[in-house]
Amino acid sequence: MLILGIETSCDETGVALYDTEQGLLGEALHSQVDLHALYGGVVPELASRDHIRRLVPLAREALSQAGRGLGDVDLIAFTQGPGLAGALLVGASVAAGLGLALGKPVTGIHHLEGHLLSPLLAEPRPEFPFIALLVSGGHTQLMRVDGVGRYRLLGETVDDAAGEAFDKTASLLGLGYPGGPALARLAEGGNSKRYELPRPKIHSGDLDFSFSGLKTAVLTKVRQHSPLDETARADLAASFQAAVVDVLVAKCLQALDAEGLQRLVVAGGVGANTSLRSQLASATAARGGQVFFPPARLCTDNGAMIAFAAALKAPMGSPHEPGFPVFPRWDLAAAASR
Ligand code: ATP
Ligand code: MG
Ligand code: FE
Repeated sequence: MLILGIETSCDETGVALYDTEQGLLGEALHSQVDLHALYGGVVPELASRDHIRRLVPLAREALSQAGRGLGDVDLIAFTQGPGLAGALLVGASVAAGLGLALGKPVTGIHHLEGHLLSPLLAEPRPEFPFIALLVSGGHTQLMRVDGVGRYRLLGETVDDAAGEAFDKTASLLGLGYPGGPALARLAEGGNSKRYELPRPKIHSGDLDFSFSGLKTAVLTKVRQHSPLDETARADLAASFQAAVVDVLVAKCLQALDAEGLQRLVVAGGVGANTSLRSQLASATAARGGQVFFPPARLCTDNGAMIAFAAALKAPMGSPHEPGFPVFPRWDLAAAASR
């Protein structure tokens, strides 16, 4: 079965083709980073308009990579939520239109479920059950995953997401938008022990996170030591990254202990962070466990994870429903029990 996946929840337009026999056959992606950089954040209306412009050319590109035509597609999957309403509607309406024109089923996919299942696209593939750490721009959650569609939330951030903390801290350090990857690069050459920063909630006993205080602590350091020279900026970036990574690693180990599991799966944009990857690898190995990541390019938003989630979830798809509802706010636990 050939599945066309469409992702338009935020500021990436992604289209991919996943074949249930042959795997990923085509992937096309356009990031709107440059478009929004001027404003220091995503402008929803601009995002929707750009998705409209990019979607069809990207679909053509993915199909040509795969050497297939639209007529070969058996199922169309799109991100139904959560995300920006207008942006989601672009993907939903294109999917619905294609479904009607081709007479093929259309299925809506939960964006976080796309992220969550994306580590299963890599080899070796983790077996169920496992603990999933979902660390993205909008979410930081720990989940117990017993199978496709069987997710139990163990803990989550009570304020900022880890990716959001990276982006806001990067902005404090003058790194522009979105600063997560730039901050990680700056941190590479820095001394992570130079600035003492808190590890929020590390000993809280629960599996929740809090990152907004950490960002404020960085702001205080910036003010105290301003103007920061290049070394100081790198050291502060490294100290911040170490604080986030310490908390994430500690809570992952706590979750594995609490559930008596040895397999950890990491998904979402912050999962691309090399320091997080290496610390989690050594921490899980030290207790006889294992950590699994998606390929780095599939950590952030993309169409491949949407097509793949559809392949795992709905082999037959669902009949096309009239209209194209989207859910800008949508809880994954609720989606799982749908
Ligand atoms: P959500 O999936 O929760 O709706 P989103 O789709 O915006 O949010 P993703 O695309 O999964 O989030 O990830 C983007 C986030 O990942 C951004 O906050 C970005 O700064 C962060 N990020 C990407 N690469 C890195 C990295 N190497 N180190 C740290 N953070 C990173
Ligand atoms: Mg994005
Ligand atoms: Fe995302």
